[in-house]
Amino acid sequence: MGDSCSAFLPLLLLLLSASLVASDSIQDSFYKCLSVNSQISFPLSTSFFTPNISAFTSILQSSAQNLRCLVPSVPKPELIFTPLNESHVQAAVICSKQLGIQLRVRSGGHDYEGLSYMSQVETPFVVVDLSKLRSIDVDIEDNSSWVQAGATVGEVYYRISEKSKTHGFPAGLCTSLGIGGHITGGAYGSMMRRYGLGADNVLDARIVDANGRILDRESMGEDLFWAIRGGGGASFGIILSWKLKLVPVPATVTVFTVPKTLEQGATKILYKWQQVADKLDEDLFIRVIINVASAAAKGERTVQTSYNALFLGGVDRLLKVMSESFPELGLQRKDCTEMSWIESVLYIAGYPSSTPPAVLLQGKSLFKNFFKAKSDFVREPIPETGLEGLWKRLLEEESPLMIWNPYGGMMSKIPESEIPFPHRNGTLFKIQYLTSWQDADKDIAAKHIDWIRRLYNYMASYVSLFPRTAYVNYRDLDLGMNKDGRNTSFIQASGWGNKYFKNNFNRLGF
Ligand SMILES: Cc1cc2nc3c(=O)[nH]c(=O)nc-3n(C[C@H](O)[C@H](O)[C@H](O)COP(=O)(O)OP(=O)(O)OC[C@H]3O[C@@H](n4cnc5c(N)ncnc54)[C@H](O)[C@@H]3O)c2cc1C
Repeated sequence: MGDSCSAFLPLLLLLLSASLVASDSIQDSFYKCLSVNSQISFPLSTSFFTPNISAFTSILQSSAQNLRCLVPSVPKPELIFTPLNESHVQAAVICSKQLGIQLRVRSGGHDYEGLSYMSQVETPFVVVDLSKLRSIDVDIEDNSSWVQAGATVGEVYYRISEKSKTHGFPAGLCTSLGIGGHITGGAYGSMMRRYGLGADNVLDARIVDANGRILDRESMGEDLFWAIRGGGGASFGIILSWKLKLVPVPATVTVFTVPKTLEQGATKILYKWQQVADKLDEDLFIRVIINVASAAAKGERTVQTSYNALFLGGVDRLLKVMSESFPELGLQRKDCTEMSWIESVLYIAGYPSSTPPAVLLQGKSLFKNFFKAKSDFVREPIPETGLEGLWKRLLEEESPLMIWNPYGGMMSKIPESEIPFPHRNGTLFKIQYLTSWQDADKDIAAKHIDWIRRLYNYMASYVSLFPRTAYVNYRDLDLGMNKDGRNTSFIQASGWGNKYFKNNFNRLGF
């Protein structure tokens, strides 16, 4: 054993020193190139992080949401660059091209497969982390806001609410999402049935293209402006900032969460929800969060379905809507709380009640774990027998989670080809499947990933088919990916492109 190790030592050292030289020269070359190409100089110590300095790991981990993508076996970047202004981003693009190094762009770090800070292949790459570009300029008179890519959606919501109690923006429910990456895939939230997606409410954008030029809507043209609003992150240049269209929100909204376990008739109520959720009053968004909880009987587990809702109006009108359209849930006045829209943002995101809205300025996520997720779109209600099979599978897993998001309303009125996000009329709801764990061990990860793949197979007969569609913001590399990061044909890519974008993939590809 000792012998065989020492026999490999010289070769190992040789390889190690060769790779050190290579990394050193990448870092040096990149630094020199950035200095030449940036219009404004940048402080090395606070914007250029190489693996040999102690801050590297904490910067890498800072916004990375999926711990599965940070384990030691996953390739790490040669360096992380945190631009301080737009010209630094231009310089990073020019230099990566000149030096032939791949770039990964990170805004909020919530990519499900960690694509903004890791690589699937052993190719040297650099992370451009936009977390220092996060200014937000709200113009209430103009009903708009310019927001830099590194701002979180929570900061955007807070800055809007600071200026007006009756304006909002319809993007994600999780407040630590980076607006930069989030809108590139669609961006849905609790106002989607009333106003559509974040990407449906973009007025303009500033991007850096592959040649390092800054373009806005006028200079990029309508084709590229179409593609960046939902065509997927990192595909069509680097978004520097979005100009968002603000939407009206009432001064008082109402929220509720009503849990129902199997013992409380969850199956029948969920069957009914599937028939009404997309047809309800457009001001009402009721999603269903499904997990496994302790049952009333000691030591037993049960499936719990929680109806978590935002209503854009007061409790009196909500109770009327519910008694007419979904009495099966048995919603009562005591289940409901009236509040301002910004308070509802905190409620839906899961902050403890009475958390001050200014917490959103911290731009932090509430939790991090190791996870794998997948998605589906449903066009016909899943029968009760199908639900029962689903419960059986959920009960086999330690921490399973499903979130069912209702469609209809504005989502059905916007044509499929309006922006690349295609899941519109005819979609009843979207399913997100998720399993999470707390251990870096690869066998544990493999066990959970196997479980979610089997669940996904089981669901095939109940969800959209030909293609079996998926939400690009819930990136799922099981559906396919570029094998070497570069040479994938359009035909190969349509294997997953059609799932994320349906027919819009043809326009994205040409
Ligand atoms: C806990 C959690 C909750 C979520 N909740 C919702 C939700 O409510 N609604 C919803 O629609 N989605 C939700 N998502 C999915 C989320 O929209 C996507 O993960 C989105 O891509 C996150 O954007 P980001 O900037 O935070 O991520 P990043 O990881 O920084 O980026 C995601 C992708 O976009 C690319 N990218 C990042 N910045 C830019 C840029 N400036 N220009 C070009 N490309 C860029 C990255 O390279 C990567 O490919 C959730 C995800 C998580 C982990």
